[in-house]
Formats: sequence, structure tokens, C-alpha cells
Amino acid sequence: MSFLTHVECTVCGHRHDAKRLLTVCERCSQMLAARYDLERLAAHVSKDALRGRPPGMYRFRELTPLDDGEEPVTLGEGGTPLLPLPRLAAQLGLRHVLAKDEGQNPTGTFKARGLGMAITRARTLGARGFVIPSAGNAGGAAAVYAARCGLPCAVIVPRGTPPAAVAEALIAGAHVFTVEGSIATAGKIVAEVAPQVGWFDLSTLKEPYRLEGKKTMGLELAEQLGWTMPDLLVYPTGGGTGLVGIAKAYEELRAMGWLAGALPRFVSVQAEGCAPVVKAWREGAETTSPWASPVTHAAGLRVPSPFAGRQMLGVIRESKGEALAVSETAIRQAQRLLARVDGVWTAPEAAATVAALIQLKDRGALAADARIVLVLTGSGIKNEPPPLPPPVDLTGSDDDIVARVQQVLTR
Ligand SMILES: *Cc1c(COP(=O)(O)O)cnc(C)c1O
Ligand SMILES: [Zn+2]
Repeated sequence: MSFLTHVECTVCGHRHDAKRLLTVCERCSQMLAARYDLERLAAHVSKDALRGRPPGMYRFRELTPLDDGEEPVTLGEGGTPLLPLPRLAAQLGLRHVLAKDEGQNPTGTFKARGLGMAITRARTLGARGFVIPSAGNAGGAAAVYAARCGLPCAVIVPRGTPPAAVAEALIAGAHVFTVEGSIATAGKIVAEVAPQVGWFDLSTLKEPYRLEGKKTMGLELAEQLGWTMPDLLVYPTGGGTGLVGIAKAYEELRAMGWLAGALPRFVSVQAEGCAPVVKAWREGAETTSPWASPVTHAAGLRVPSPFAGRQMLGVIRESKGEALAVSETAIRQAQRLLARVDGVWTAPEAAATVAALIQLKDRGALAADARIVLVLTGSGIKNEPPPLPPPVDLTGSDDDIVARVQQVLTR
């Protein structure tokens, strides 16, 4: 049973028919969002009913935009663990630090949720192919879900995009283009090309359903925390789908009576070399303005002019959160620290949340008993590793080798 009622503009409120293949608001060209009959939904589904369902993104099917009987294009996304990080927490003098490990998704990042959902809906509503500008992981995910449903896909990424994401798109048979500049340059090309070839434009938040996929992170978090919200939610922010999506999940669950109380403080983390949200937040601006020369090795954070700047700032403000920037060195150190102390090799973007946690702690902004969730958006294995000491190479006689290993291990 579907509870989707319509798709609404997040700025002017104009209602759109959800049976059509939608992009942005037809009145004001701003971001659209799916709306549900939450009252009817709450009367129809109970928390108990969820218990018997398998884990994964479609566990919360009634809160997704899928039609009755619609088969999702899926690779098993969602259902990721909420891992305690006890040793990191202890190092920082904190008691409850948890990580939503999105690196365990198909494609190694949470982009699988968003693109799985967007492609499911667009295919049902008649899309014949897909075009996407990307910093890497979204392009890879679009390519694999397009392959999964047998439709063509074109991916445009900046030169210097992490090779694993480019390979992921290529091996799935997508047309892959690289271009000088950032995701913003790629976005302009896509906006021109998509209508010409008649393929659907999957640009971040320029269609309403990627958000619904990302929203499922918030639904899972709510259930995993026993239908409560944490005090602080730390999120590495590029285009902002996850930030806006998790807030949307919490608000819908609140409206259904499944959650109560205040939203967690949303902490939006960016890289110092590309921090349009942080800048706008500090200036008290309504929306972001384009960041001149974006540079960061955390590719997913290299988004100089996010389309949903206004919506992200709204979430930060309403939740009494904040936006902060971390350095490239802090990201690399945090990535190594997390792997070493709690065994999670996370993506650079995600490691930025650990760097942010350290910054907040150093600033005295964290209570020891705060319940903190870091959203670890991707797996480290999809990226160049940070600088590491080389392995110890063993040469010489068998005896020499054994002696050398022994020497290192007992040093
Ligand atoms: C895309 C991406 C981000 C940024 O996510 P948004 O929801 O666009 O803000 C963060 N981390 C990783 C690993 C990504 O691929
Ligand atoms: Zn509008």
C-alpha cells in the first residue's frame, strides 16, 4: 500500500502530481520533496509489524514513494550497522559515540540508497536512460543501478575523481566523461545534455526521490536507537541529501508519533578547502553562495554550490546545530585514528566527522554523556589510502627472515 500523496516544493509549497516524472518545482525551480499521508500511515503500520521484516532500505516500505507492488531496483542496500566506537570515545573522554557504517552498502557508500530509490522511481515513471554529474560515488552508484535495470547511463565527473568510483561506473557499462573543474561544471553539461538525448537528469536533489532513499538512514537510526534520537548527529556535507534526508525521516516519524522530543543538533562538516555551508552558516545567510576554487581530497565534499543550500541551512538552524570545517591533515589523521582504535577504515569524507568530533571536544562543546552519531558515509577502500608506513620487506635466508619478523614484533 502506498501512502505517497503528492510531491511538494520545499520553497513555494506548490503541489505536483507524483504520478509524473518530476525534476524541480515547475513554478520556482527549487527542490521538491515527497509528502505522505502520515496519519493514515500511522494507523496502518505499527513498530511491531516491522519486527518480522528483513533488514534493508525497503523494511520501511510504507515510508517510501514506491507504488503498490512496485519492484525496487535493488542490490540489497540499507540495513547497515550502528557501531559503537568505544575506544575513540574513551580517547576523547566521551561515553556514547556511535557510527552508522554506510560503507557496508553495495557500492561501498550510502549513495546506493539514494540512487537505488531515484532509479527505481524514474524507471517506473518512464525514464529511458540516465545522466548524472558526480564527484565519484554517485556516478558509480547510478551506473550500477542503471545496469541492474538494463537502462543506459552517462556519468560526468571532474578530472582527478577517485579511480575506484570511475572504474565502478565503467565496469557497469556507463558512458564516463571527465572534465576540468568540479561537480558544478559537470552539472552544467548534464543540464544541457539530458533534455537533448531524452535521458533523465539525476543531479543531486533535482528530482525528489534520491532524498527518499537517503531518508532511510534516518528511519534505520531511529529504530536502532530504540525509537529515540541522539543528541548530536554529525554529517559530512556535500550536496546535503543525507543531512536533509535524515531530518526528514525524524520529522515524519515525529508526525506519526513514533518519535518524540527535539531533533538532534545537526553538525554539518565540510573541508576547509570547500565550505560553502559553513560560510553561509557563519554569515547567517539564507542560502549558500558558490565557493570559488574548491579543493579537498575528500571528493564527496567538493561541492562548491549545492542546490539545496537553503534546505541544509534550515535543518542546521531548526535543530540548533552548527556547521564547521576541518583541514585536510585533520581528515587524514582522523581516518588513521579511527581505523587504528576501532577498526573502521572509513572514507575521507566520513573521517571528516571524526575530525569534527575532535574539534568540538577540544573546544569544550561536548558533554561527556552526549549521545553522538557519526554518519560514516562510505568505505575507505574506495579511495587512495592516506600516507602510511610501508610494510617491512623480508629478504635473505629463512633464518634472517624469521629473526627480522621476531625483531619487529618484540621491538
Ligand atoms: C556524496 C558523499 C558525501 C556527501 O553527501 P551529501 O549527501 O551529498 O551531502 C559524503 N561522503 C561520501 C563518501 C559521499 O560519497
Ligand atoms: Zn516552488
